[in-house]
Amino acid sequence: MTFDRRSFIKLVGSASGLALAGCATTTGSGDAPAVGKTAELMPKGSARRVVVVGGGYGGTIAAKYIRMLDKSIEVVLVEKSKQFVSCPFSNFYIAGMTNDMNAITIGYDKLAANHGIKMVYAEVTQIDAAAKKVVTTEGTLAYDRCIVSPGIDFRTEEIEGYNAKTAEAFPHAWKAGAQSTLLRNQLQAMPDGGTVVMSMPLTPYRCPPGPYERSCLIAHYLKKHKPKSKLILLDANPDVVSKKPLFTKAWSTYYKDNFQYIGGKKVTQVNVAGKSVSIEGIEDFKGDVINLIPPQRAADIMVKSGLVGDDKRWCPVDAISFESPKAKGVHIIGDATALPSDGPPMPKSGYSANSQAKFCAQNVLNLMNGKPTVEFSGINVCYSAISDHESVSIAQVFNLQNGKIKSPATAISPADFSLTKAEHAYGESWLKNILTEMST
Ligand SMILES: Cc1cc2nc3c(=O)[nH]c(=O)nc-3n(C[C@H](O)[C@H](O)[C@H](O)COP(=O)(O)OP(=O)(O)OC[C@H]3O[C@@H](n4cnc5c(N)ncnc54)[C@H](O)[C@@H]3O)c2cc1C
Repeated sequence: MTFDRRSFIKLVGSASGLALAGCATTTGSGDAPAVGKTAELMPKGSARRVVVVGGGYGGTIAAKYIRMLDKSIEVVLVEKSKQFVSCPFSNFYIAGMTNDMNAITIGYDKLAANHGIKMVYAEVTQIDAAAKKVVTTEGTLAYDRCIVSPGIDFRTEEIEGYNAKTAEAFPHAWKAGAQSTLLRNQLQAMPDGGTVVMSMPLTPYRCPPGPYERSCLIAHYLKKHKPKSKLILLDANPDVVSKKPLFTKAWSTYYKDNFQYIGGKKVTQVNVAGKSVSIEGIEDFKGDVINLIPPQRAADIMVKSGLVGDDKRWCPVDAISFESPKAKGVHIIGDATALPSDGPPMPKSGYSANSQAKFCAQNVLNLMNGKPTVEFSGINVCYSAISDHESVSIAQVFNLQNGKIKSPATAISPADFSLTKAEHAYGESWLKNILTEMST
């Protein structure tokens, strides 16, 4: 069902009670534990403990909400990096529209201090649900319940010729940070007249509109700085999978001279020396710059810990508690999940992870405190830039029907592009708000 924006906003207002509540600030010690390579990294005292794995879009919010809702619970957040670089808005940096990644980088000090969250900077190597322990490179942590939001990794084994070095030559930039810089530098070094080839995988993958946004921004960059160059987007899907009328209009209106979209082209082989990608060995595409976004699955730790489903890719979860049917006491949110859905699934987005984290935190506490669980009701809004000053969006409400997540309402931007400038500003504001929510 499609709604006009006014009725949609009304519905969001009523459906997202929990998601919008809980803005109260709290204080806490935030004292970081002394991290040492001992067997028991931080012995568990009498307080009940939730260990959260992954300090990205889902994990920061889950950790914060557990502490905001129940101060008696000790929360330990385990994250392998001292800083988190956001994928949302990394396309602007890649396409040379921002000079650095400062606006998309956050640390954890304020979050920890404000809420009394204990940070452990380490890589989790095993989630042992039977022993109720998380094994990290710095030692083990016992827990009462564990929430995991580790994001994605890549199914590179499905691409012939792909090895540990391929991502340096053909960057994916689908995890923000060093990969984003690599792709940006390659674009800037490319001589005018060059060809950029982008390849995107079949769904499901992280951020359905993300590759199309990137194509617009790279095309915009080429049009402005390298007008004799062109961009080819090879989509493994037969057709555009997100905001199709808006992206196709942007391509044909702004980038018709330097951009080509080709659907149904799944890259199966790479030739790094020959700077090309191949479709089933039948058709080769050569590029001066190749942005190869491989097919995806839940992060490595989920595979190692036996938390992925029969597809060996994504993690099944209960749609109310987000608990894994494979590991009692382990709750999974964000991109790694395969939520039971009736209709189009909840997109793998930062906003989805944020919505899921709030309900997961609430229900983890309800289970720990012997209270009834509450039903999921969340929102997702994804802004996508189509140029350096215009954006379009898709907004969706999700709720629970018969144990499955369903979307009763979706709205996309007007087709006449009358709101694109305003939506660009809304997108920038969204980023600031959500990163502030994650880091304070
Ligand atoms: C180019 C691009 C643009 C995007 N734009 C948008 C957008 O506009 N809006 C939107 O809503 N979403 C967008 N997304 C999607 C968004 O980035 C993801 O959906 C979101 O990050 C998922 O959150 P998460 O918590 O599941 O994973 P992440 O945010 O990736 O967090 C995972 C964290 O877990 C840590 N981790 C992983 N494994 C371990 C381990 N073993 N031990 C310790 N730590 C570990 C990682 O270091 C990371 O910090 C975009 C994505 C891309 C690629």
